[in-house]
Amino acid sequence: MPTDPPYSLIVVGAGAAGCFGALEASRDNDEPVLLIDAGNKPLSKVRISGGGRCNVTHACFDPRDLTENYPRGGRELRGPFHKFQPRDTVAWFASKGVELKTEPDGRMFPTTDTSQTIIDCFLQNLEKQKVPLHLQQRIRSLHRDVDGVFILERDQEEPLKAKHCLLAPGSLASSPLRDSLKALGHTLTETVPSLFTFRIDDPELHALAGVSVSEATVSVPGFGRKQTGPLLITHWGLSGPAVLKMSAWAARYLHEQSYHFPCTVRWIVENPERIRQKLQEQRQTHPRRKVQADCPFALPRRLWEYLCQKADIEDSSWSQLPAKNANQLVADLSGQTFSVKGKSTFKEEFVTCGGVNLKEVDFRTMESRCCSNLFFAGECLDIDGVTGGFNFQAAWTTGYLAGQTLRTRLERGRS
Ligand SMILES: Cc1cc2nc3c(=O)[nH]c(=O)nc-3n(C[C@H](O)[C@H](O)[C@H](O)COP(=O)(O)OP(=O)(O)OC[C@H]3O[C@@H](n4cnc5c(N)ncnc54)[C@H](O)[C@@H]3O)c2cc1C
Repeated sequence: MPTDPPYSLIVVGAGAAGCFGALEASRDNDEPVLLIDAGNKPLSKVRISGGGRCNVTHACFDPRDLTENYPRGGRELRGPFHKFQPRDTVAWFASKGVELKTEPDGRMFPTTDTSQTIIDCFLQNLEKQKVPLHLQQRIRSLHRDVDGVFILERDQEEPLKAKHCLLAPGSLASSPLRDSLKALGHTLTETVPSLFTFRIDDPELHALAGVSVSEATVSVPGFGRKQTGPLLITHWGLSGPAVLKMSAWAARYLHEQSYHFPCTVRWIVENPERIRQKLQEQRQTHPRRKVQADCPFALPRRLWEYLCQKADIEDSSWSQLPAKNANQLVADLSGQTFSVKGKSTFKEEFVTCGGVNLKEVDFRTMESRCCSNLFFAGECLDIDGVTGGFNFQAAWTTGYLAGQTLRTRLERGRS
């Protein structure tokens, strides 16, 4: 038998989106709101995020520019970002006593450099606003009774009842709620991983593990888009922001390829003509210098030596460098192709691409278009961003909008 009377609102999922939504919905009202989570700790992803520092958001304050960082959901987030964007996130946390700082690449972290600050902020404010948090309460399914009240079936205990429901359960990849959502009229887009690194079985490349390039361009022939940014060579292949961004934009395409695809790395972003010119200048100005020991580009020494060896340049000086080897060096610098044989998520931020179809959600309110009084926030939606704080920003923004709408609804329901 369901519990009686129903809660005004049950928020499913005490992650970033659910906690934010619960706080906004319960602000200045006494309606009974319950926050539940399947795990034994709330905000578990916040805890491990950003290497334990929590990359809360990104210093990108123009809503249109911000949307460029979302391979899926950018268009739909444009309106919501006009209502709640990173500037509002900074102000929201500041109003709760949490200051954020910006790193040179735009990522924003708490000044304490620990995600515990963000967790404490949510838990203290949930307590202050008297929102009970029930842990180890997994919702197995959700349906409506004849009066339109939501019945939330739990694993062990009696079902819960709620007039409104905010679903913020994170990734829907293996969620028990998938069937309920479909039964309530939703279509779910295919869920596949996003933000992963590329596995390349090449011992010569592995030998360069730890080498990083501040600006390289990564492309996947067959997929239209290129990504430029820092690149890191690891003992399993390629990583770093350029690769993570590529994995995000091409998430569905790479899944279709079963993660077996060619990947081209442009070590120097300048065009091949300019690269050739630089080699020529080197030949004229330093004819006696050994090519392997004299890199004219801003590349790590070990990478330059590797590229010289690839071009069969062993001991020659600039003046002795045969045209064939110079051509090979130019070709590799401006596009070396590797064979990717899989993906890896070692310690990186990763998210799910896919989820609730965005056409079925009203982005002014975050309410379902298929089922009234049902709201969504966070990663369960078919929204995902590139690395850098954009995924949390989507969680705060959608949690905020859902919370605002629910607060008004709960107030109206009381009067
Ligand atoms: C290692 C790692 C590092 C990351 N670092 C960053 C970062 O620094 N910056 C950034 O922007 N993004 C980062 N991300 C992505 C970010 O963590 C997610 O985008 C974000 O957590 C999504 O928030 P959410 O509230 O929607 O979902 P989640 O944080 O996943 O929270 C969902 C909650 O719902 C609960 N739940 C699920 N199903 C049920 C159910 N049936 N019943 C009850 N409860 C349920 C879960 O237990 C969970 O607590 C990182 C991700 C990973 C994996």
